[in-house]
Amino acid sequence: VARRLSMPAKVKEEEIGKCGSRIMVFVRVRPMNKKEKELNSRCCVRIVNQRDVYLTEFANENDYLRLNRVKGRHFTFDGSFTDSASQLQVYATTTSDLVEAVLQGRNGSVFCYGATGAGKTYTMLGTVENPGVMVLAIKDLFGKIRQRSCDGSHVVHLSYLEVYNETVRDLLCPGRPLVLREDKQGIVAAGLTQYRASSADEVMTLLQQGNRNRTTEPTRVNETSSRSHAILQVVVEYRVRDATTMSIVNRVGKLSLIDLAGSERALATDQRTLRSLEGANINRSLLALSSCINALVEGKKHIPYRNSKLTQLLKDSLGGICNTVMIANISPSSLSFGETQNTVHWADRAKEIRLKVSDTNEDQLPMPETETDQTKLVLELQKEN
Ligand code: ADP
Ligand code: MG
Repeated sequence: VARRLSMPAKVKEEEIGKCGSRIMVFVRVRPMNKKEKELNSRCCVRIVNQRDVYLTEFANENDYLRLNRVKGRHFTFDGSFTDSASQLQVYATTTSDLVEAVLQGRNGSVFCYGATGAGKTYTMLGTVENPGVMVLAIKDLFGKIRQRSCDGSHVVHLSYLEVYNETVRDLLCPGRPLVLREDKQGIVAAGLTQYRASSADEVMTLLQQGNRNRTTEPTRVNETSSRSHAILQVVVEYRVRDATTMSIVNRVGKLSLIDLAGSERALATDQRTLRSLEGANINRSLLALSSCINALVEGKKHIPYRNSKLTQLLKDSLGGICNTVMIANISPSSLSFGETQNTVHWADRAKEIRLKVSDTNEDQLPMPETETDQTKLVLELQKEN
């Protein structure tokens, strides 16, 4: 983590690999599910050496023609997990360093990105038997706090919230939408529950309850397709003696664990009219997130946080002294090859943008209101990158 933090935004090409990056990018493939097996779908994803990802097959002739890609495209990430990787392995590789950093007063964020059904919620929340990153992080955090302080000076607060259709809701206390306000600590959701946690055990139940409060809607793509982004924020506050002044100071570290909405294109559903607004807004948050990350890594002065609720909320977890981790979740099946390819490409881009050196200070891109505008913006962003 220290290595990553001290990395400048602009890195020489030969240093890559030796030093790691500001954004660490991982890929996790889930096991084939029952339906994928029943339909005799092929496995498109091969993971080698816990780093390399090969996309090896095409779903069908149409996909081949449409995507026009060479067989067996190869990608390398900071780490890649096969379908047999354990939750603990994923946690230890991607997030445990960030928990350590939070205890030193730094911010961190972990995002799961991918199509609906690719394993984002499994990775983040998990099940009672196989708890995911959110739960393991809190367990680890309490363990570490116990190890280093017996005076009870650490206070841990949890908030669990949702961004759905550019509306923010409290998942621990569902009710009216929350208003985002700017105060001296940054952007805060007014009235958001700050749950004071005292042990890791109570947290799983709390989070599962919260997860049931997430907005999910039936679509043709998947019956429980989630169009909401869920953010767990873990704030650790503690007192330390300042080495120079010898006075007691308050230190705060914040960890944001984010289960992003399904990244599949809104056009994949047939309820286009009803869904187009939601679709646009989901992409609005995802696009805004990409532009913020681009801008941050390129060292731009203006970071367009204001373009979406998601990026406003994550402002202090993206910029400043912060570690960012992306986990791209994918299905192994040829039935989802298109989505898998999109996700892996996006992850690959997220990994590469740290190399970009830009001398222009770009202004905020206007966020699109319609599908067509959106397509234009996507193309523009692609051209830019
Ligand atoms: P998403 O949140 O991306 O829509 P989910 O996390 O809900 O997808 O995963 C879809 C289904 O696949 C769930 O039933 C989940 O339990 C299962 N699943 C996902 N990833 C794994 C994994 N690594 N191991 C076992 N089951 C998984
Ligand atoms: Mg989910």
